[in-house]
Amino acid sequence: MTKCPLCEEREGTIDGHVIPRWAFELAKGDQPSMSLVGNPNKPRSRSPIGIYDPDRFCTDCESLSSTAESYAEEVFGRFPDGWTEEKDVNGNRIGWVLPSADIKLLRLFFIQLLLKAHFTLRPEFKDVALGPYAQRARDIFQAWEAPDSPDDFAVVVAKFSPSIKHRDAELSIMLPVRHSFEGRNIYCFNMAGFSIYIKVDRRPFDSTTTVLQLGSDGNRVNAPLLDFDQAPAGLNHVYRAVARSMAAKHRMSKR
Ligand SMILES: [Zn+2]
Repeated sequence: MTKCPLCEEREGTIDGHVIPRWAFELAKGDQPSMSLVGNPNKPRSRSPIGIYDPDRFCTDCESLSSTAESYAEEVFGRFPDGWTEEKDVNGNRIGWVLPSADIKLLRLFFIQLLLKAHFTLRPEFKDVALGPYAQRARDIFQAWEAPDSPDDFAVVVAKFSPSIKHRDAELSIMLPVRHSFEGRNIYCFNMAGFSIYIKVDRRPFDSTTTVLQLGSDGNRVNAPLLDFDQAPAGLNHVYRAVARSMAAKHRMSKR
């Protein structure tokens, strides 16, 4: 038995996981197994219902993260419940907005996910190495308090635009991979039809993205539309064009 790396106190005792089970169930649909996309350069693997890491995390830490997972299911797993469409001046849909959310709990969800991806011994997550940010993330986890600044482990979410061609792929899970976005280090992953970017970098995003990151716009979650074919390679142009449009609209509505 080894100590749980999240609390560094208790023994790891249960089959821990990184990506919530509900996201796998959503991705699986009616299929007996599902396609799992990890590093784009590696072949896809098949996973029946998730990725478990036996005896790694302790019961207390798992139960803490499960409160955040349940909330993330409410927000993302039951889309479009609670979400409203965001349109540009011509009436074209440019994104989705959740008007009121528990932003702190959502941010904790993403930080704990990244932290567990860092510590898990499962090879599927070996692209996640937080370096000096691991200790910072662990402090946040142990205090169970999201950072005051939205820039700290900043999170932006984007929603895949509906596509006939990629109906199933849209809901599929892409495990966290390291990317560069606006010249910043981020981890990007997909689940439940959303693409999520978590900044692990001291430098802030540019002003457009800053407006959209969780915690910068009160309790709102702003999710610009992202074309599945363009993600994640297209982050830098497709997402940004829509994000600019959404950000401009919000600045206008606040006047
Ligand atoms: Zn623990």
